[in-house]
Amino acid sequence: MKYIFVTGGVVSSLGKGLTAAALGTLLENRGLKVALQKFDPYLNVDPGTMNPYQHGEVYVLDDGAETDLDLGHYERFTNVKLTRFNNLTSGQVYQTVLNNEREGKYLGKTVQVIPHVTDEIQNRIHLLADQSKADVVITEIGGTTGDIEGLPFLEAIREFALEAGHGNVVFMHVTFVPFIKAAGELKTKPTQQSVAKLREIGIAPHILIARCERPLDKELRQKISLFCNVPYEAVIEEKDVDHSIYEVPLMLQRDRLDDLVCRLLHLDTPTANMAHWQEIIRKLIAPQHRVRIGVVGKYIELQDAYKSVYEAVIHGGVANDCGVEIVKVDAEDIEREGAEKILRGLGGILVPGGFGERGIEGKIMAAKYARENKLPYLGLCLGMQIATIEFARNVLKLDKAHSTEFDPDTPHPVIALLDEQKKITKKGGTMRLGAQPCQLVMGSMAANLYGAFVVNERHRHRYEFNNAYRDKFEKADFVFSGTSPDGKLVEVIELPNHPFFIASQFHPEFRSKPHQPHPMFKGFIGAAHAHIHHRPL
Ligand code: GLN
Repeated sequence: MKYIFVTGGVVSSLGKGLTAAALGTLLENRGLKVALQKFDPYLNVDPGTMNPYQHGEVYVLDDGAETDLDLGHYERFTNVKLTRFNNLTSGQVYQTVLNNEREGKYLGKTVQVIPHVTDEIQNRIHLLADQSKADVVITEIGGTTGDIEGLPFLEAIREFALEAGHGNVVFMHVTFVPFIKAAGELKTKPTQQSVAKLREIGIAPHILIARCERPLDKELRQKISLFCNVPYEAVIEEKDVDHSIYEVPLMLQRDRLDDLVCRLLHLDTPTANMAHWQEIIRKLIAPQHRVRIGVVGKYIELQDAYKSVYEAVIHGGVANDCGVEIVKVDAEDIEREGAEKILRGLGGILVPGGFGERGIEGKIMAAKYARENKLPYLGLCLGMQIATIEFARNVLKLDKAHSTEFDPDTPHPVIALLDEQKKITKKGGTMRLGAQPCQLVMGSMAANLYGAFVVNERHRHRYEFNNAYRDKFEKADFVFSGTSPDGKLVEVIELPNHPFFIASQFHPEFRSKPHQPHPMFKGFIGAAHAHIHHRPL
């Protein structure tokens, strides 16, 4: 078994997760089986209860684990199957250690960071190695070297490497080489200092990934090599991408990162054939068509809050050889200025998931605008609930229809909690989480898009369509085209008298990859393109 540890230096947000995922892509394309995991040094047990302002999107796995958004990169770039064991937080480590202590498992010893916490961290690396049967385990350590809270993780991987032995472990450090305008040059000192910080705790990186805005020249690479004690060819340039994050694997391949990793780990494999990936990039850089999609949300100023949604939309574009310009629409702007003014000219409207009341009326206005103007609409989770509320109010004339999440006293709770959920009060306790089967109705748009009748999609929500209203909706040609296999939970809705109006209670965005665009997104972008060019679907 071989191990790669990815650490980060100088600043956060360098795209360590992306780099780890991109390396995973390259190794998989060399025929290796890869496993990926992320260690997060914060004390939350998982990011499920964290605010998007703090943490960006919560990425949901098949098993219902609420994880860091870097795991989304792992799944989009590779074929790895992730479970809750692929994301470990300090909170989980301490929870386990403290439970062990209460159960007397440490036989009266003093419980300490070293060895008890560090052993627990190492256990998780072994566990993934055993379970995945991968050739290479890539472990990304969140945070930045020098953070106090990251120390136990770094100590753990140092000890781990010692045991695994020479030739079985690669330490890859992602660092920042800033361009200083006043000096007109790139500066290596922060990199030198962050490598020094790592060496202080006994980790000497084998490879440095230099994140930079401008290309590194030969001299600079030599300087980094000399002062950071890594060979010249182990200084890898990862410049800001021009067009798309999906360029990263190709960029790293150009600098022979995967060759080097395989050499260091004594892995004898053919080089990676990335032709399919190059074709994806071609479609991203020079697409045949273009379309603008409005994503109506409330965290639009945050890059990461709707990460998987934005990515899936782009994948839908790749599937149609169509460049997508994502227009981030603040739902509250629609409330203030009206739907027509804000949404006119778009090829389609997407309402993503969300919690809380802010912006809800604006989203309802967006759904109404899409329905009435035959503009393609894709609703995800909250986006399905919004479409339902809109239809109830404006077509069925159910005055003040709402979700009980936003109006507990609504006379028409078309979206509500199931009876059995009402008793649970613990945060997170009532959530429907993870992959569940959904049965699609023959002849529906959903079934046509998927080309299947049973699909498995991921959930993260509390509220459901209220079946007391099912008849009323059906009589008005509102189609329930997907339900749980027992028929009880509404999973997909669509409007038949509309070119493309479909919404799901689940989150299809978590399953989309650039090389396997999700059918709902593929259909949505195709419809948006047809709408703009007045073409039949
Ligand atoms: N707030 C809604 C619910 O809890 C929708 C959640 C979501 O969009 N993820 O059901």
